[in-house]
Amino acid sequence: MFLIWGDASLPFCYNYKNLYFYSMKLPIIAYGDPVLRRKATNIMPEEYPHIKQFAEDMFETMYAARGVGLAAPQVGHSTRLFVIDASPFADEEPELKDFKKVFINACIEDESGEEWPFNEGCLSIPDIREDVYRKPTVRISYYDENWKHHDETYKGMAARIIQHEYDHIEGKLFTDKLSPLRKCLIEKKLNEISRGIVDVDYKMKFPAARKGR
Ligand SMILES: [Zn+2]
Repeated sequence: MFLIWGDASLPFCYNYKNLYFYSMKLPIIAYGDPVLRRKATNIMPEEYPHIKQFAEDMFETMYAARGVGLAAPQVGHSTRLFVIDASPFADEEPELKDFKKVFINACIEDESGEEWPFNEGCLSIPDIREDVYRKPTVRISYYDENWKHHDETYKGMAARIIQHEYDHIEGKLFTDKLSPLRKCLIEKKLNEISRGIVDVDYKMKFPAARKGR
């Protein structure tokens, strides 16, 4: 068998601290993997000289899966980094037309307003969508990919996506926010996802999949 660049086994053969080859799509880690439950750690510029390339790979991975946000734990790195491109929501919120950002070492400073529901999904939990309640306004401090510091306030869909991705770097998933009844109803499906029993058209890594699947 030929080893092809972009093969699922490859991204784990190197890291972004020391080496870099070239842009590639990374496999997305599925529900059930402990990396999705770990509180991710802050990173320092000198530790990650190839951070821009990593962010580019994250965007490429996210676009291939038709997502609007992706956090580093979802590609197996327990670091406080996530990327967002909210432009698909520009029809409803025109100011999101050019919203493409990298958030490094983010810290949510404040959330305010009355919680509102939105039907969320997650690239690590394919085929499940549920209404999730979140506050409409969020103030967040973070570094961008040029290590410039920002302290900004977002509302609407931008805030919603930031909150979802921020949860990932805190080791939380949107399914944690559901009622006990909803959790019970999707439990079997979550278990199947972790075993790779799900139709998905992007590359994933399933924690409980049998070898040879
Ligand atoms: Zn997610």
